[in-house]
Amino acid sequence: MPPALATGNLDIIPNAHAREVVVDKDGKARGIIFIDKTTGKETRVTAKAVVLAAGACETVRILLNSKSNAFPNGVANSSGLVGKYVMDTVGADLSGQVPALENLPPHNEDGAGGGHFYAPWWLYKEQKAAKLNFARGYHIEMGGSRYMPGGANPAPDDLTRGSYGTKFKEDARRYYGSFVGFAARGEMIPNENCYAVLDDNVKDQWGIPVLRFHWKWSDHEINQAAHAEKTFAELIEAMGGKVHGLKGGQPGFSLRRPGEVIHEVGGAMIGDDPKTSVCNAWNQTWDVKNLILCDGAPFASNADKNPTLTIMALAWRACDRLVDQAKKGNL
Ligand SMILES: Cc1cc2nc3c(=O)[nH]c(=O)nc-3n(C[C@H](O)[C@H](O)[C@H](O)COP(=O)(O)OP(=O)(O)OC[C@H]3O[C@@H](n4cnc5c(N)ncnc54)[C@H](O)[C@@H]3O)c2cc1C
Repeated sequence: MPPALATGNLDIIPNAHAREVVVDKDGKARGIIFIDKTTGKETRVTAKAVVLAAGACETVRILLNSKSNAFPNGVANSSGLVGKYVMDTVGADLSGQVPALENLPPHNEDGAGGGHFYAPWWLYKEQKAAKLNFARGYHIEMGGSRYMPGGANPAPDDLTRGSYGTKFKEDARRYYGSFVGFAARGEMIPNENCYAVLDDNVKDQWGIPVLRFHWKWSDHEINQAAHAEKTFAELIEAMGGKVHGLKGGQPGFSLRRPGEVIHEVGGAMIGDDPKTSVCNAWNQTWDVKNLILCDGAPFASNADKNPTLTIMALAWRACDRLVDQAKKGNL
């Protein structure tokens, strides 16, 4: 923002809740209708080009709410694919208790925790040789150590078994810091059962329809979670530990709920064919060439890496292209 402000050409309108993209009769984006949240009044800004960057799902919602004669199902939605192929990161977790880590000398290990450990995906060869029952892969984020417990029970009840007084203090000293946790963060394969539509009944406080989500993990995600659980159990057992707090035990049981890893992307996919995608390779919608999407909505896959740096890189690239095309008079 500082370099943009320094040009003197940037106006920031705070408390503006965008509702829809305005499209003229030539099919070009001509501005935004927004609600001024301080007054509740509907207002509009005009524009030579419109960039939506409201976060993947909100951008999808704005597109779907932008209905006109040219786009009765929402702007840039001639393919019918706006809202389709929404993704999150695949999350699966397992923790264990390791006797070798019991009764460690008490000192504060804050600052030397799980944030410093990361194992990238390692089974590329097996994946290539079709030895796995899921596509792509996951990385591992690890946690443990005797950091400040922050109010959590330092010694879980299933181990202390109701100990009390001096015995409980001994148990806490014994067990605290003897737990390790592993979290898989993996690639989701987009599928047609994961999508968002406008809700027919529920509206936000400004009367604008909200999104309703439909979701079904495919075998790729369930099998990937099961693979991670097995890997983590092997790691814990190789440390001489025992898996702790196993829920249910069905392979894939720890698969996080959709949206829980908060890496929602997709819904306006990039592609090379206007019939099977919403955006071209430059995050520019096929239908409205002066409308670009600069958040995770154009993602056509959701690699195991956290999404934000890729969102930023693509946004930068898309904006460079927008400026270039504007200068050439192509918008
Ligand atoms: C708790 C948490 C932890 C996370 N950790 C990580 C992490 O470690 N690594 C990582 O890569 N990602 C992480 N993410 C995901 C990351 O936050 C998102 O990928 C990223 O913020 C997306 O950037 P964005 O610009 O597309 O959307 P946002 O950052 O959501 O920005 C969208 C902006 O648009 C505004 N807006 C929304 N709707 C409207 C509207 N109708 N009108 C006007 N303005 C609107 C919002 O107020 C917001 O300012 C995390 C997310 C959460 C919630």
